[in-house]
Amino acid sequence: MHQHRPLSRETVVREIWRWGGRWPILDIGVFAYIGRAMPFTTYSWKLKRRLPMLSDEEFGPIDAALRNRIERMQQYRRTHPHSSLTEAAEHCCDDALDFYEKLSGVRLARPDDLYWVQLSRYGRLCPNCGKPFRTPRAKLCVECGFELPEGERAGAAKAPRR
Ligand SMILES: [Zn+2]
Repeated sequence: MHQHRPLSRETVVREIWRWGGRWPILDIGVFAYIGRAMPFTTYSWKLKRRLPMLSDEEFGPIDAALRNRIERMQQYRRTHPHSSLTEAAEHCCDDALDFYEKLSGVRLARPDDLYWVQLSRYGRLCPNCGKPFRTPRAKLCVECGFELPEGERAGAAKAPRR
C-alpha cells in the first residue's frame, strides 16, 4: 500500500519556488504543509499592515531574486524588447511575488515590498502591546513606549512555537 510520507518544510518551499505559478504539485502534502505551517502574521512597520512573515529559510529564494535584480531586469528587457525600465523593475521579480503569494495567500504589489516579509528583519514582539519592535536593535517600542531594561536589545523576532 502506498504510504503518504509527510513532506519536509524544506522540500515544499523548494518545490513551490521551482514550479512558480504553475501549480503542478497540488499534492496532499502541500495542503498539509500550508495548513500546518501558515506563516506567522504580524505587523509590518514599513508596509503599515499585518502580513504573513517568512522564516529565513522560506525567504532564501526571494533574497536571491532581490540580489539579482539588475540581471533580472536585463533578462526581462531581452524577452520583452519594448518594455520600459520601469516596467522591467516592476516585473523582474514576478516569480518571487508569486512564491510569496503561494506561501502566504497575499499578493504584494512591488518587489521592494518583499524585503519586509522576512520575520528576522523585525525585533521581537513587545511584551506590552504585542507589536514587533521596529528592528532587532531596538530598545524602545515605538507603538506603546515600552522600554527594555538598560543594556537590553529586542533581538530578532521569532514565530511563536505551535
Ligand atoms: Zn509596545
